[in-house]
Amino acid sequence: MSNAELFRHEDEYSDLLSSAAVEHLRAALRFQTVSFVDTSRTDWKAFDAFHDFLKSAYPHIMAYGTWEDIGQSILITLPGTGDTLLPALFMAHQDVVPIQPGTEQNWKHAPFSGDLADGYIWGRGSMDIKEMLIGHMEAMELLLSKGKKPKRTVYLAFGEDEETCSRGVTATVKLLRERGVRLEYVLDESSGDVLDAGDYGAPGTLLCTIGVYEKGYADLHLTARARGGHSSNPFRGTSLGALSQALSTMLSNPLPPVLSDSMRHTLRLLAPKITEEPMRTYVADMDRYEKEILAWCLKHESLYHQVQTTMAPTMVSPGAPAANVLPGDMWAVVNMRLIPRDTPDYVMAHFRPLISQDIELSFDQSIAASRPSSPESYGYRQLKGVLEHYFDRLLFIPVQNRGATDCRHYEEICGCCLRFGPFLEEEDVSREGIHGTNERISVRAYLQGIRVLCRLMEETCFS
Ligand SMILES: [Zn+2]
Repeated sequence: MSNAELFRHEDEYSDLLSSAAVEHLRAALRFQTVSFVDTSRTDWKAFDAFHDFLKSAYPHIMAYGTWEDIGQSILITLPGTGDTLLPALFMAHQDVVPIQPGTEQNWKHAPFSGDLADGYIWGRGSMDIKEMLIGHMEAMELLLSKGKKPKRTVYLAFGEDEETCSRGVTATVKLLRERGVRLEYVLDESSGDVLDAGDYGAPGTLLCTIGVYEKGYADLHLTARARGGHSSNPFRGTSLGALSQALSTMLSNPLPPVLSDSMRHTLRLLAPKITEEPMRTYVADMDRYEKEILAWCLKHESLYHQVQTTMAPTMVSPGAPAANVLPGDMWAVVNMRLIPRDTPDYVMAHFRPLISQDIELSFDQSIAASRPSSPESYGYRQLKGVLEHYFDRLLFIPVQNRGATDCRHYEEICGCCLRFGPFLEEEDVSREGIHGTNERISVRAYLQGIRVLCRLMEETCFS
């Protein structure tokens, strides 16, 4: 089934969704705002030109709002007329990832052409994430052009380097914090996945995911010391043997799973649709069957990583130079994605006593999970309501985000940080296109996403 079959109310905001919204995205895609880890390779003039374009394309925003440059990042403030409501912030990033060298010829339309063909707008950034940046601008411009003024202050914040080092968002959040700003909610990118609820025991029900937090990340480094020598005398074992034992201990003693608030929320929401046993019985009494539910989740590919810190042993090195030589010092890395309970300290406290003291343990890098936003919060409920208006048959559920985005930086000043780009493109198109070749967005998905942004802004910020 095509996602477009789920679209409803495509007749709304017809005054906005003229060719201008399409032309603005096409124009935006022609600016080569590629960000590189080595920032000396980044063409900042392309960002300057992109800024000039935005300023000329959105006269109502420029007349009513205040534009601030924070490095090459943009912060637009649209002051609210009421003084009691906390502001809302809509974010996206200006930068795009480079074109993989050697793949230029594989693009059906040149990556910075902004071509309009076959019902799609083509180009690097059309799914990640200039469609959302331009979408925010289109929505705000329309509402202002009707002579309306926001009741709640609205910020539009567009970083310059989300794909690389996130300096832009760090500086923006610092500035807002210094000004004493607290936010009601933040809306950031992340593609909503549409999936069947079969793993929950509700086959035939379609789910769509809203990201409410990001899992943490850790590379746990294990080192085994050894002097080496001849393999005919492996008294007390080898470094490779010790490492293998340590990895095996870790894998057979995973951190216990947790039934998070967002998973409970999802199960409550899904309960009337769950037709299959044993989940039907379990979900009817979640407290009693918590252990059974967790065991069920661990057995299903789409669920286990929602309830547990995952462990993937990914590297081991260097081994011995020959089969009859004992290896010297060896190390291994276990890549972990952490649920909120499992901070790096918690992970270390769990594994240290289980593993032989001869094995050294340290983190190459580690960052705890971000703070989950509640599905009961105002921002979440409003977004969900608007999405239900525009998309038929989808049950929206709160989940962890798969990738890291700039959004987590706003958790310092906001209790409700939502990751959801309302541009529901077909799965094969987005899988192929985001960071890949032939990135494109269908005009229908693009315009429907802007309707969502318009209505969300109108309902939460203007009335
Ligand atoms: Zn992105």
